[in-house]
Amino acid sequence: MPEAPDSEGPDRDCPERPLLNPTVTPLCRDGRTLHLVANPMNGPSYTLRDEDDERVLAKLPVLLDGTRRVENIARELEYDDVDALRSAIEALYDRNLVLDGASVERPSVVGYAALKPTMLEERARDGIEATVLVIGPERPGAYVLNDLRDYGVSNVRASGAAANALDRDDGLAPATDPLADEVERAGFVVALERLPGDARLREVNEFAVEAETPLLVATIDRTAGTVGPTIVPNQTACYDCYRTRLRANASDPDRFDAYLSGGADPETGPLEAFERIIASYATLACLNYLLSGAGLTVGSQLTFDFFEWSIESNDVLKLPRCPCCSRVELGHQRFVELEDVWEPEQ
Ligand SMILES: [Zn+2]
Repeated sequence: MPEAPDSEGPDRDCPERPLLNPTVTPLCRDGRTLHLVANPMNGPSYTLRDEDDERVLAKLPVLLDGTRRVENIARELEYDDVDALRSAIEALYDRNLVLDGASVERPSVVGYAALKPTMLEERARDGIEATVLVIGPERPGAYVLNDLRDYGVSNVRASGAAANALDRDDGLAPATDPLADEVERAGFVVALERLPGDARLREVNEFAVEAETPLLVATIDRTAGTVGPTIVPNQTACYDCYRTRLRANASDPDRFDAYLSGGADPETGPLEAFERIIASYATLACLNYLLSGAGLTVGSQLTFDFFEWSIESNDVLKLPRCPCCSRVELGHQRFVELEDVWEPEQ
């Protein structure tokens, strides 16, 4: 029969339907010893032993599910001494390792999938007080604009061809000021681009770094796309850092430059479904940043291969002495010698 060592005697009656405390991990290594561990760093917080019967302790944790009565648990274990079992469960209940299943409120399944469900719900209900500038081609730009508006972002502005998609009575506004001013005024910028051709991304990146406005870059090629990096100026890599690192990895850097400085062919653009995927991820990355100040694509990038249906995530590291975002001026003396700082007395 299960024995609870150093049991001081239960102070509370055994709960009608015992539930193993969800924060406790049961460990049963040899069938006769059950450790109930509250935290992997603490070691066993409580141990039950049964020298006589191998079957009971190994099966017990699963049956403490808050729906079974103690008599039913004993019957399923084929264990005759219901009072001994009740006494062992009482000792666990007394130490909060077992809860009263009838009084525990069951959390909804929805909560398991959300990092901070209450925060998301509250912000969604109240709306998000922010100005987001969306720059990009008409179709993916329109997806992002509408999704941000529908989620409750208070001020969504559109620049580039994306502005053509706006319905003026729709709570969205065209960006009418010069791009540098619009970027400075925005709390967040989403810049979409169809590759090849990245001149506009480099321009927006420069404005964003200058104005210290967070910027999310997303690109769409015919059968591939990227979301990220989300650039937090002076903290994470900028678009120029990213582009320079890409170029350094290209087998033919000159052809890489030629490819990116060419223009996208409107006749052979990506499928609308691909654009929808990239736009959706870009919207989620933007909302995540606005809600939490962080996100999956801050300092990293998701790459989608629509041909092979693969997705991968890579870090994008800051480039030392990047001409755009490094505060260290190029050409200044990098090495300081002893004579520069100390002049020996004559
Ligand atoms: Zn940079």
